[in-house]
Amino acid sequence: MSGSRGLYIHVPFCASVCAYCDFYRFRYNEEKAAAWAKEAVFDLNQIQGSVDTIYIGGGTPSVLSGETLKSLLEGVQRFLPVKELTVECNPERVTPEKIRLLKENGVNRISLGAQAFDDGILGMLGRKHDAEMIRNAVGICRAEGIENISLDLMYSLPGQTVQDWKKTLEEAVKTGVPHLSVYSLTVEEGSLFYRQGKTPSDPDTETAMYDTAITYLEENGYRQYEISNFAKDGRESFHNKIYWHYEDFIGVGPGASGKENGIRYTNNVSLNDYIKGKRRREEIPLSEEDERFEAVMMGLRLREGINLAGYREKYGVSLETRYAGALEKHVKAENLVIEDGFLRTTKRGMFVLHDVLVDFLD
Ligand code: SF4
Repeated sequence: MSGSRGLYIHVPFCASVCAYCDFYRFRYNEEKAAAWAKEAVFDLNQIQGSVDTIYIGGGTPSVLSGETLKSLLEGVQRFLPVKELTVECNPERVTPEKIRLLKENGVNRISLGAQAFDDGILGMLGRKHDAEMIRNAVGICRAEGIENISLDLMYSLPGQTVQDWKKTLEEAVKTGVPHLSVYSLTVEEGSLFYRQGKTPSDPDTETAMYDTAITYLEENGYRQYEISNFAKDGRESFHNKIYWHYEDFIGVGPGASGKENGIRYTNNVSLNDYIKGKRRREEIPLSEEDERFEAVMMGLRLREGINLAGYREKYGVSLETRYAGALEKHVKAENLVIEDGFLRTTKRGMFVLHDVLVDFLD
């Protein structure tokens, strides 16, 4: 357990609203965005100590004007250099000028909201890009000197077949980017899909799609290092591993969450309050037992698993003793395995991790 600390900055603006989304975001408005950035920089200046990674997500960070983006990035300069500074971008917003600006300000990783390489599916999702724009965006990032690129892809979409999904995976692999994240659709209340009565694929199709992703991506040089994440050698996301190693991370901006010194919090979602300088957050103090369980919940998402000696040292209890019953059951069922001092989820266990974790809640 490395003891790293991350910083997440939530950009609560989007140019339009995607059909499946219920995240906290506003339609973009330059004046509000500039006021938001000023407040975010104020918050960044309050942070004590250093951070190891920074992730600017949203919302759509790439919707910010060059000027607003620049003022936000000025706020993170005092933390640099960091191991990883990622900015999420939507493909249609990627221009050489914007990527140059990001690069000049220390950004070394771009996460592109690609979702699919199928224009029909992209239209249904309410995305504003097509497959060609994803390829162009990857080309622009590379031309400007950022090779560390991740694509987000979605499966289990209404009407999507396993063949459609395979085609998206093939096209993603062809781009040669070093990192891919794959997510199955959940239809959240509050999304357009929910109001339209749209549903994800049936569970068997979803499982087949997940299996296709694991097999096809591993065949093509992407190692599954987390339940939803695949990377070529050395390109795993440092920032996301802070979450899965259950380390602390600071959340900046309305709607952002964080976890610091045994307290999990979510910042008040009101943009207007935030712009007026009002800060409120909902805090949940984590008990020792909460932390022990959550560390297992996060750690089992990683293929590397949980370092048992490190766990004992950090949480003052042996995982094997504390969770003996659940361990015995799931090692026997071959969902979990203990090897080389680590507790790991097997490939089979990755498909049923939710059910496995329920047994750790006792
Ligand atoms: S999915 Fe992303 S880009 Fe689309 S509305 Fe939600 S936050 Fe914005």
